[in-house]
Amino acid sequence: MKNLLDFTLEELQSWMKENGESAFRAKQIFSWIYNEVWNYDDMKNIPNSLKHKLKDNFYIGIPKIEEVYESSLDGTKKMLLRFNDGNIIESVIMQYKHGNSICISTQVGCRMGCKFCASTLGGRVRDLTCGEILSQVIIGKKICGDRISNIVLMGSGEPLDNFDNVMKFLKIVNADYGLNIGQRHITLSTCGIVPKIIELADKEMSITLAISLHAFSDEKRKEIMPIANKYSITEILDACRYYIDKTGRRITFEYSLVSGVNDGKEDARSLAKILKGMLCHVNLIPVNEIKENTLKRPSKKVIEEFEEILKSNGIEVTVRREMGADINAACGQLRKSYIESAK
Ligand code: SAH
Repeated sequence: MKNLLDFTLEELQSWMKENGESAFRAKQIFSWIYNEVWNYDDMKNIPNSLKHKLKDNFYIGIPKIEEVYESSLDGTKKMLLRFNDGNIIESVIMQYKHGNSICISTQVGCRMGCKFCASTLGGRVRDLTCGEILSQVIIGKKICGDRISNIVLMGSGEPLDNFDNVMKFLKIVNADYGLNIGQRHITLSTCGIVPKIIELADKEMSITLAISLHAFSDEKRKEIMPIANKYSITEILDACRYYIDKTGRRITFEYSLVSGVNDGKEDARSLAKILKGMLCHVNLIPVNEIKENTLKRPSKKVIEEFEEILKSNGIEVTVRREMGADINAACGQLRKSYIESAK
């Protein structure tokens, strides 16, 4: 049995032809699925004979909604979703004035080992397929009862460590038979796997690339991100310039501020220096404290000073607004605490 959500329109059309059916059925079936009909029997314009064939060959891989938590502070909704094999992932729906945004996972767990991150503590369990990545957006749309206008690939997992599935997901989610979400409304966040950034740039898509930088020097970066032992900041910035050349898109640099580690005035000045002149934007994220380590977020004053130094050096900067603070909404904490409590 295969998951229909793993198929592009062209692939399903070929299957139809190979199985003596008309190619146009593929579009009809996707139209049902993307409009929240996930049972073949309810697909009114599909002949019974084809319904039987579909049931014999494909399942519609919508995960089970294990829990939905809603923040009483800002309406942020966090979903815990369970796949057929029992694995659980989390996705977050955030409501902004300009529309609904969903933060999705690309792997079950993660193998990148960043010190501050809860998603990586149990390592990578497995990659998500393109259909499993997509199903989070489909179900998110149903849960918020409205269009999803923005997607951020910033949930658990490293998207560029699951490259082919993520690329196929981007193709389907963008297609008019799919959810029709424009590339400009999609952000992919990576810890900086240089060869894959270059491969992505060569695809010349208009998605926003976000780089988890978190430090201005390799030495500092190595303290918190193991991937820094593999690729230097110089290599990452060169790959970013290449991405800008190829796509014309502004890069976002994410910088999680950790008290006493990377939040000093000198850090801010050095960061401004290495980013000077680049088409970019810095997103400061006061670190979300997790119980598995002792990393602390800086005071409001330190955060504001850091922001000010970047600004006065001509770097565009925003401090990330915290969403869903009352529901463990950040960075893999919910899945972990849920699995632990179920043991
Ligand atoms: N693997 C990808 C995407 C997932 S993490 C990446 O590394 O970019 C999304 C963002 O949240 C990254 O910038 C990550 O470094 C950051 N992050 C993870 N845990 C965090 C925490 N506890 N506090 C603040 N930011 C965190």
